[in-house]
Amino acid sequence: MTCPYCGRGTLVRDTRDIPYVYRGESVLIEKVTGRFCDACNEVVPDDMDAQRLIKTMLKFNKKVDIEKQCACVMCAQNKEGTPE
Ligand SMILES: [Zn+2]
Repeated sequence: MTCPYCGRGTLVRDTRDIPYVYRGESVLIEKVTGRFCDACNEVVPDDMDAQRLIKTMLKFNKKVDIEKQCACVMCAQNKEGTPE
């Protein structure tokens, strides 16, 4: 199967820890099973792990947002405009 992200690489089935970066902060999402591209390192996770992956990422995003919270008007407006 060809990678849907770069269209060049081949997807290889594997279980790996996936590093995720948001606003300069990184986290390692452990033991994600799916198909990994050998060219661009993108991953197409299995359905079960995709759910967990998204949940973990959103949780991490929120944590980073809180840590990097800025009190300026622009940020306050953005926050209100971004629902859960
Ligand atoms: Zn790829």
